[in-house]
Amino acid sequence: MTRRPGFPARLPSAAQPPVRRASALPPARVVAPTAGAGHGLDSQAVRTRMVQKLAAQGLADPRVVAAMNAVERHRFVDSALVNQAYEDTSLPIGLGQTISKPSVVARMIELLLAGRTGKDGRLGRVLEVGTGCGYQAAVLSQVATEVYSIERLRGLHDRARENLRTFRLPNVHLLFGDGMAGFAQGAPYAGIIAAAGGDAVPAAWTDQLADGGRIVAPMVMANGQQALVIVEKNGARLQQSVLESVHFVPLKSGIA
Ligand code: SAH
Repeated sequence: MTRRPGFPARLPSAAQPPVRRASALPPARVVAPTAGAGHGLDSQAVRTRMVQKLAAQGLADPRVVAAMNAVERHRFVDSALVNQAYEDTSLPIGLGQTISKPSVVARMIELLLAGRTGKDGRLGRVLEVGTGCGYQAAVLSQVATEVYSIERLRGLHDRARENLRTFRLPNVHLLFGDGMAGFAQGAPYAGIIAAAGGDAVPAAWTDQLADGGRIVAPMVMANGQQALVIVEKNGARLQQSVLESVHFVPLKSGIA
């Protein structure tokens, strides 16, 4: 693993205001003095362009727009891939896994939030299955009160911890384990989001979902293709909707 661009930066959060702000920039901007050093990358400008493209494709929820604008995606990929960090593409993060496409991250979080507002317009506790490099967990930290993110590969769990360290996000809790079992200690969840697709939504997830909560996950359909699925829980009733087709890495059981 080559070195990632390192510079001190923090994401804005209600609990922890950023250290420095540039007044001429949008409020979500957190100044990273050495941002992109050696990469010719003005990360806020490229990120703003990325978010403008996402908005043109239909991203509308201002909470998700702000979160996508705030999180420096280039800090989650290998330095050799930094120049592609703001393209709408998935990228390898090691151990055969990928960081999800920004448009898919935005779309899934928008679906997770749709019609829901908790404290300060944030969703309550959220469970993410498949931490990967930690990027989506960082985005989620901006729209949910608490984020529990579980990863089954020790190497990626450790890498995500390292990636997220400088952001100092006190509401992100990284867990190492099999996310198919959910994480009962954090339940009930207002939302559960999966970054890996299985044949079915595990019962543990619906069990750990709060009443009125929603699961957004890729799932393999009868035709062998993956599609995005939403499961909503209302009392004893579970309602499933199938949306567009997607391409995620497989949901696997056990740890490695
Ligand atoms: N959200 C991530 C995407 C990572 S790809 C990001 O922003 O980078 C999906 C991840 O799901 C992979 O790292 C894979 O190891 C993990 N995964 C697959 N099955 C899992 C399971 N049962 N429990 C936890 N993580 C799992």
